[in-house]
Amino acid sequence: MTYFVSDIARIIHASGNILNDAPVSLLLTDSRSLSFPEETLFFALKTKQNDGHKYVTELYQKGVRTFVISQRLPIFEGLTEANLLVVKDTLAALQQLAASHRKHFQIPVIGITGSNGKTIVKEWLYQLLNEDKRIVRSPRSYNSQTGVPLSVWRLDEQAELALFEAGISQPEEMERLEKVIAPEIGILTNIGSAHQEGFQSIEQKCLEKLKLFTHSETIVYEEDDQIVQHCILNTIAGENFLSWSKKNQDAPLYISKIKKGEQSTFIQYNYLQIIDGDFEIPFTEDANIENAIHCLAVMLYFQISPDKIRERMMKLHSVAMRLEVKEGIQNCLIIDDTYNLDFNSLELALDFQMRRAKGSDLKRTLILSDLQQTGKSSHLLYLEVANLLKQKGIDKLIGIGKNIGDQASLFPMGMAFYETTEEFLQSTLINSFDKELILVKGAREFHFEKISDRLQLKVHETILEVNLDAIVHNFNFYRSKLKPTTKMVCMVKAFGYGAGSYELAKTLQEHHCDYLAVAVADEGAELRKAGIYMPLMVMNPEMSSFNVLFDNDLEPEVYSFKLLKALIRAAEMQGISNYPVHIKIDSGMHRLGFLPEEMDELTDLLTAQTALKVRSVFSHLAGSDSESHNDYTLRQIERFTQCAERIESAVGYKVLHHILNTAGIFRFPEHQKDMVRLGIGLYGVSSCGEEGLRNVSTLKTTILQIKDIKAGETIGYGRKWTLTRDSRIGTIPIGYADGLDRHLSNGVGEVVVNGKRAKIVGNICMDITMIDLTDTDAQEGDTAIIFGEELTVQEIADKLGTIPYEIITSIATRVKRIYYRE
Ligand SMILES: *Cc1c(COP(=O)(O)O)cnc(C)c1O
Repeated sequence: MTYFVSDIARIIHASGNILNDAPVSLLLTDSRSLSFPEETLFFALKTKQNDGHKYVTELYQKGVRTFVISQRLPIFEGLTEANLLVVKDTLAALQQLAASHRKHFQIPVIGITGSNGKTIVKEWLYQLLNEDKRIVRSPRSYNSQTGVPLSVWRLDEQAELALFEAGISQPEEMERLEKVIAPEIGILTNIGSAHQEGFQSIEQKCLEKLKLFTHSETIVYEEDDQIVQHCILNTIAGENFLSWSKKNQDAPLYISKIKKGEQSTFIQYNYLQIIDGDFEIPFTEDANIENAIHCLAVMLYFQISPDKIRERMMKLHSVAMRLEVKEGIQNCLIIDDTYNLDFNSLELALDFQMRRAKGSDLKRTLILSDLQQTGKSSHLLYLEVANLLKQKGIDKLIGIGKNIGDQASLFPMGMAFYETTEEFLQSTLINSFDKELILVKGAREFHFEKISDRLQLKVHETILEVNLDAIVHNFNFYRSKLKPTTKMVCMVKAFGYGAGSYELAKTLQEHHCDYLAVAVADEGAELRKAGIYMPLMVMNPEMSSFNVLFDNDLEPEVYSFKLLKALIRAAEMQGISNYPVHIKIDSGMHRLGFLPEEMDELTDLLTAQTALKVRSVFSHLAGSDSESHNDYTLRQIERFTQCAERIESAVGYKVLHHILNTAGIFRFPEHQKDMVRLGIGLYGVSSCGEEGLRNVSTLKTTILQIKDIKAGETIGYGRKWTLTRDSRIGTIPIGYADGLDRHLSNGVGEVVVNGKRAKIVGNICMDITMIDLTDTDAQEGDTAIIFGEELTVQEIADKLGTIPYEIITSIATRVKRIYYRE
């Protein structure tokens, strides 16, 4: 289905001029997720925290041409090519557009709401039904006033079933979502006490949620919940309830038996007094049993046989959670779950901790904040929490917050309570952990990341200092060689060439770099977690990391048919379409990439699918830094250009072209095309004689000890260095395990102390190195510089017969990075 700007203007009743009636395929509300500007329609939403009108100009500069706005600001006058569609309420317009789109589809649409379990039920239904039907569903938990319309917009001609979740926090929100989703089948997962704030009572909340089902034919819910049963019977006139019960044998779906085992649960049912069946799920938590029964009801509704139900239920797998395990101080392990906290997620995290502790002798400790958003009395809630902790065998509890502290007497295990996170951080208890598996679980506003930060293992006093201003200087140095419209990718792969990717990424994001490139998906995920929202490219996506890609909006490089096909399959499985990818051409480097003779097969594959969309086509030069390879470089550029044009004309939309790396930018700016990829030059290392770069990284350490040693004595392991004079020998805490190459031992390498050179003497050890300080006035505690302004990485590379890239990327992660601006 193709929408032109004029179609959309009509649907949302917008006024304003249409200058270019182009097709629109993508809706954008968060300017940070821009991927294909040419086909994007941006809705400038106003929320309590932000105003989308602020981003219109920036998006225009990036190529977006169509905007839905509610206010004409004076600065918009300058956007001479923009379609500005003016409406009264931009959010309402977005919902209207999605509702209109929804009307084109006569397929079953399932709307899922309730307090807990919406995402799990949606994902499980997908796991259970995707063999039979092509399913479109909300990505992750897009269930809000904006998330729902964006989800519904994904409906396309191939869809046979749709699963959308809807969440509300205030009265009246559901009526709007009902128009957008218009579900034929409704599922009410449960009515918990979460998000009570916006509602007067649980009944009111339940009634509001039920508004999603105003026009539904069937509603799935648990009738044993009195409030739910009462609200449904009193408000909804339909008779097609597919309610289930563990007590009432006359319920449409009667659950006759639930038996929990060690790892799984057996469930027996009777449906409409006709079908008897049973199945097992590989879960034992009550919440998951409830989720599975909702799914069972839907499967029965779709007339899936008890045998198939049994087979598929057994294969259910859990929906990914974000729990991280990190090495902590004093032989502890830290499980970091500092993002959200409710009873369910606490139970899941405790299970994770229990599994992780199995077979180790670690004691189990929980650091827990007040639980938020609950309608229960504090006493009841914490009684339940205390029982849960007892059941899960927690050895020690540290409670933080006023509410949990007030209920301290409920918790029998070893414990301590603090009113605030700061108070705990200043206590002596924080230094007393020993061989513990510590689950750090807190509601967001308690900022428990400060606690997990403090508990994580830190390292010794060798540091890599990174000058962020020098990074900006070098970035601008290369930018000045390019046309203003040429985009820049900054390569922060390999942990920012050793300099640490996060701070760099943040700095480059501030300075309007267009893209960052990391090596593997996990590096990208780390950046997202740290708040980097700009587009990220992943150079070596692994087959196992596709979900990490999708979950973090990471754009993979695709270099082979195997990878391309697997990626298409994975995206289709997730209900994703138009996922941006970057196609790599092997124009002569002969590393990764499609060969020119593979273009037919490649374009056939690309045009036969909609899961992926080509954002860019690129190639990499083998000898851009050397004049002797100029002919070859030009041949590579020519081959690449042909391939890129083939691909662009086959897919039929604009694709970015790029081939230059650092040396290429400097030596072949006439071939900058749409974008360039800056690597080593950003880090201040000149690759082909460019002058004017600034040093970025300084590796330095402190002298631990200085001793006078007599001539004739030997230094270090293997006695490879004999003193020819009485000497002052210094010891510094850096060794080959930190990335100091052992070939620099015995007089090959040097360090700088107080402006003077000092030779490395004896063999470099794992963590320690000896230096000859006889000709210096150095004192213990003075700084020794391994490389930096005065002793360049290039010099070390030359001594070792390697390239600067290897030196800077070899600095171990245990070396602390410190960032500064001047
Ligand atoms: C690493 C890399 C670059 C950057 O190269 P530099 O020589 O550091 O500028 C560019 N493109 C690709 C594909 C790379 O892997």
